[in-house]
Amino acid sequence: MTREVCKRCFRESAVGFSVPDDVWAAVKARALPHAGNVLCLACFTEAGDELRIKWDRDIQFWPVSRVTHEGVM
Ligand SMILES: [Zn+2]
Repeated sequence: MTREVCKRCFRESAVGFSVPDDVWAAVKARALPHAGNVLCLACFTEAGDELRIKWDRDIQFWPVSRVTHEGVM
């Protein structure tokens, strides 16, 4: 498993996450109006808070350490 790069701030995302489709669609429309399908947790939570939605509903996390990202055993 590797870290993804946020398409908004272009930082590596150490903690991936998944949320219900309706939550993702709302946040993506605000945070990534043009292109891209990856947000880091910081950009996601910021946009979710601006929208005043319960972005924490059914959220799941997928942490990826540096060592895992680099594939080091
Ligand atoms: Zn970001």
